[in-house]
Amino acid sequence: MNYQGILNEIEKEIDLKNFDGKVASYIPELAKVNGEKFGMHLYTLKNGHYSFGDSNEKFSIQSISKVLSLALAFDLVGNELWDRIDVEPSGDPFNSLAQLEYENGIPRNPLINSGALVISDILVTHLKNPKKDFLAFVRQITNNPTINYDDAVAKSEKKWGFRNAALINLMKSFGNIENKTKKVLDFYFYQCSLSMTCKELAETFMIFANRGATLETGERIITPSRTKRINAIMQTCGFYDEAGEFTFRVGLPGKSGVGGGIVAIHPNEYSVAVWGPKLNPKGNSAIGMTALELLTTKTGYSIF
Ligand code: GLN
Repeated sequence: MNYQGILNEIEKEIDLKNFDGKVASYIPELAKVNGEKFGMHLYTLKNGHYSFGDSNEKFSIQSISKVLSLALAFDLVGNELWDRIDVEPSGDPFNSLAQLEYENGIPRNPLINSGALVISDILVTHLKNPKKDFLAFVRQITNNPTINYDDAVAKSEKKWGFRNAALINLMKSFGNIENKTKKVLDFYFYQCSLSMTCKELAETFMIFANRGATLETGERIITPSRTKRINAIMQTCGFYDEAGEFTFRVGLPGKSGVGGGIVAIHPNEYSVAVWGPKLNPKGNSAIGMTALELLTTKTGYSIF
């Protein structure tokens, strides 16, 4: 497969002018990002790297980090996780409070904010130094000791994170949060502030395409069975109330973030990351979805 040729075609065919969207502004630090950025990196299991555009520029991975915290929590507590979080698509926006009230504080899935906050609570309970240990986990997966949090983004979100504060307090009232809400929120905001390039993101997510093992070192990070389950959750819940649309148009498990990144994987084939900061009304990168749709159309393969 001529992946570089296909990526070049995608870069050429996508006209930024055709995408209105807006850079996320509810986290003031993210509003500073240039909406015209566009980059993509594809990393294959045969160890090929293909890219274009701003693929080596760091951006805030935001909700994409929820898959990494899920992987670590799943490893720490196993199936106990599912006593506190469900695995159903929400069909609601990522920061919605509505379902939590009538579903007694049990989030629909780990990739919406409420579910990710319960995962953060689990990590705060089980890790000695949550921020440091989680970062070490991400660096181990990526085999890259330079990956880091973005302090300014974390502080900016902490200052304006009223909806997340509402979500965690509501869950606390139902008994689904063990730790002090302030401590859990602090961890969650740092987790979301992880900064990566498209290349680093594709490298990080290679474990989900490679049955839970890193490609570079062959180290097993998660079991093949848990990898399969996490991929299933990405497929059904990775794009909130647009999970169906992403599955319909792209046909790969993936995850988006309000920093404008999207990562997707084709099991046993590749991981791919794309960045275009302008978001559609559902909070997903409009250009990212189109770029990935073109990728599975031009290669002729998705998981379906
Ligand atoms: N940190 C962001 C929030 O909690 C993540 C949201 C996202 O990327 N969809 O609002």
